[in-house]
Amino acid sequence: MAGKKRFQVLEDRCKGCGICVPTCKFDALHMNGSRVILEEEKCKYCGVCTFNCPDLALVLTTGEEKIPDEKILPLPDFGGEITQPAPGTHFMQGATACAEGAIAAGCRFYAGYPITPSTEIAEDMAARLPQVGGRFIQLEDEIASMGAIAGASVSGVRSMSATSGPGFSLMQENLGAACMREIPLVVVNVMRGGPCTGLPTRPSQGDVMQARWGTHGDHQIIALAPWSVSEMFWLTVRAFNLSEKFRVPVILLPDEVVAHMRERIALPDYRTEVAVVDRPVPSDPPESYKPFDGRFLTPPLPAYGRGYRFHLTGLTHRPDGFPTGDPAQAAALLERHERKIREAASEIVQVDEVDMADATTIVVAYGSTARSAKEAVRSARRRGVKAGLFRPITIWPFPTERLSAIASRGNVRFVVAEMNRGQILGEVERVVGRFRVSGVLQTDGNPIMARTIERAIG
Ligand code: SF4
Ligand code: SF4
Repeated sequence: MAGKKRFQVLEDRCKGCGICVPTCKFDALHMNGSRVILEEEKCKYCGVCTFNCPDLALVLTTGEEKIPDEKILPLPDFGGEITQPAPGTHFMQGATACAEGAIAAGCRFYAGYPITPSTEIAEDMAARLPQVGGRFIQLEDEIASMGAIAGASVSGVRSMSATSGPGFSLMQENLGAACMREIPLVVVNVMRGGPCTGLPTRPSQGDVMQARWGTHGDHQIIALAPWSVSEMFWLTVRAFNLSEKFRVPVILLPDEVVAHMRERIALPDYRTEVAVVDRPVPSDPPESYKPFDGRFLTPPLPAYGRGYRFHLTGLTHRPDGFPTGDPAQAAALLERHERKIREAASEIVQVDEVDMADATTIVVAYGSTARSAKEAVRSARRRGVKAGLFRPITIWPFPTERLSAIASRGNVRFVVAEMNRGQILGEVERVVGRFRVSGVLQTDGNPIMARTIERAIG
């Protein structure tokens, strides 16, 4: 028979933040300085406050079981055996290659809500994660999905979600929360025509700016744009590695064509041929660890529940994670966010250049449009036109330095081809000057054909 319920404040865990006090609707909790006081006669032993203490310092028991005194909480075992399709050549869909890249990179948690044309990624992750000891959960919407993967990541598990335009919009507030808290995670946005429900399952590149500036405030983000099934695999691996290394959300931005196409891919051996970057662990002991320590551009992030206790908030915060309105500390925080990406730009930014050495007409294109652009460039070359292809693989941060160096050659014009109304065209104009840039902009739900781009090359 269960004994009388007992309520206890674990003094060694309680940091006196007071968060628990307003969560008791019976007004049974009060603060006396930094100490939590319980008015036993008011307490209904409902347990609500115990779920609201971020430090698990409030415990409700039957009075018979032992109150845990260890600080290291048991976490699910995600260390399942890695299974994979046989290394070697496969004929594979882009979405499947993305899911395999995630598994190879150590992703062991996926939360999402199905939406075309990204649903195949969810289907593949639902099948694959249980095989490697991971967890898959379908949630009620994309808002919850973002919250879930951010929470899982803070507990030390590499986490991902996949969506498309409208779902990506729903994710934006929690994406901003992850930016502010510097939580590593990967979101795949398979771009379809918009705005709103737009053109479901038809290709688009209309979310390029949403990936950069969709959430509010000055924040940093990395976005990668694959153009092949092979890049769906390898850029997913890279997305996780960049995310973990720089404590920043990374967006994989395939368009519908790349996610749905099937082509040949050479799969590596995940155990021996895929380099996985581990999240830096703190050298400081738990007592002196600060989650936003300004000594580092990217402070290390331990897993919640593994001996380290720390505070994360969406408010502007001090190095110890607690809110502050101090102008100097507020400025220092966002400056550090910006510097950690800007100063690593040469490592983060990748571009692909085709026939660029003597090119005087340069097509700037990414994703599946770059495949058409490459064909257009090759065809123009056969006619004696000095055309070249500049393909940003890293869309954000934008490859400003490399493009600027190319523009400084002088007699060069640029043709930007993209399935939107000129989102990257504006970036190219910013870098090289607007009078040298023209656009092949298409938003009719069809891929841009090579002949359309070749006409613009001239
Ligand atoms: S929320 Fe937890 S840590 Fe904060 S005062 Fe209440 S018991 Fe203590
Ligand atoms: S157990 Fe329920 S009634 Fe008691 S202090 Fe916590 S929230 Fe209030």
